[in-house]
Amino acid sequence: MRKTKLVITVSPELVAGEKLREILELADAVRLNASHSSTAERTQVIQAVRAMAEALNRRIPIFLDLQGPKWRVGRFETPVELPVGSQGVLYPADMAAPEGCAWAVPLPHPELFLGARSGQSWLLDDGNLALEVVDVKPGGIHVRVKVGGLLKPRKGVHPIGLDVAFDPLTPKDLEDIKWGIEHGVDLFAQSFVRRASDVRALQATIRAYGGNQPVIAKIEHPQALENMERILEASWGVMVARGDLGVEFGVEKVPALQKQIIRQARNAMKPVITATQMLESMIENPQPTRAEASDIANAIWDGTDAVMLSAESAAGKYPLEAVQWLARIAEDADEHAPASSERRTDRLPDSLSGRTDVAVALAACRAGEDLKARLIVVFTEGGGSARMVSRLAGNTSVVGATTDLTNARRMGLLRGVSSMLVPKAGHLSEMLESIEPQLKADHGLLPGDRVVFTLGHPLWTAGSTNTMRVLTY
Ligand code: PGA
Ligand code: MN
Repeated sequence: MRKTKLVITVSPELVAGEKLREILELADAVRLNASHSSTAERTQVIQAVRAMAEALNRRIPIFLDLQGPKWRVGRFETPVELPVGSQGVLYPADMAAPEGCAWAVPLPHPELFLGARSGQSWLLDDGNLALEVVDVKPGGIHVRVKVGGLLKPRKGVHPIGLDVAFDPLTPKDLEDIKWGIEHGVDLFAQSFVRRASDVRALQATIRAYGGNQPVIAKIEHPQALENMERILEASWGVMVARGDLGVEFGVEKVPALQKQIIRQARNAMKPVITATQMLESMIENPQPTRAEASDIANAIWDGTDAVMLSAESAAGKYPLEAVQWLARIAEDADEHAPASSERRTDRLPDSLSGRTDVAVALAACRAGEDLKARLIVVFTEGGGSARMVSRLAGNTSVVGATTDLTNARRMGLLRGVSSMLVPKAGHLSEMLESIEPQLKADHGLLPGDRVVFTLGHPLWTAGSTNTMRVLTY
């Protein structure tokens, strides 16, 4: 049985094709990328995904991945050649191009002119071009080309090490947040998070617009690595966003950073998605490379909850094959995962010690292991206990039982957790009795099987877990 969850990016093209049904039979979560597609196209996508999930009787969470403060060079007529060693100027887009330099490119982001310092390294076009800042003047940022090539309009700008105050939410993000709340996405993902206050700002905006979706913080900016503990506290979960992480730090740093981020997320008992280029070659080919298979397995052995496809499913030639290979590789990696005790977190961070719900989750997982329990059933109204038990349960399967459909759907992102919708019973015995048929039907319990339950007593208040119970069927 596969425990690792699959996050699949769904695009208008994918919805227009014929593979959506088969893909959603395997997908555990769907990502919509706000960087591409208009809101009108996205509305069709979300409706198609919801309808198909319903038809398949699967609870699939959908998250909207916000573009965030992605800087780009301005618009210009023809691509500009940047020869190695040449000196050029990045000038404010609302001013005229300066005269007398080898080349000049407009930059429509005033905040970047405030943070530019000589000596900085600026990357363009996802790292394909590299510049060194040599001088910052009112008329523009003077740079020398370290890695040259052709620069097209609207390509991305990565000023490495630049720290400047700017709003973490762009006007486009605000529009996308409104759209997401209106269309009932289950979570938001936030790009280029630098500190916990960025996550809190998004969370406050979601609330202000009438939503209550939690936030997945994408870890891709160097400053996020310095603020991981606080970011983990502020967010629902995190994503190892290896694309931009590789641009910011250099590709050789990605493997160690991935391990570090996953370890930190596990210690904080927050879910973590590993993303980008997991099956990159399958954009063009129907088979993965051996290196890609190894990469997916190693992310799983690092402890990731979920693995993600981006362009492979959204814009590739073989979207269904990519999802099938991802599932196949993940299943085999799960079978060969290290024993549960090795997977246990190092030690609890201070913020989690002294908490009743954490202690009960730990006890339940320990009991589940000792008793070789078939299941740990977590009654979880806010979903917090499901995240914790998912993290600590080792090889024991986990069922997250809740009365709330959205909460149930979000469990699609938690390793080893399946969700169960239950009626709101008033008494514990009534509760346990009422779910018995469903437990037996869905999980094939046999006489003598033991199940560990955790719950809050009195029932149905978020964050109130204080009780553990073991039943033998
Ligand atoms: P993106 O984020 O695909 O939205 O850029 C993921 C990453 O950077 O890896
Ligand atoms: Mn990114």
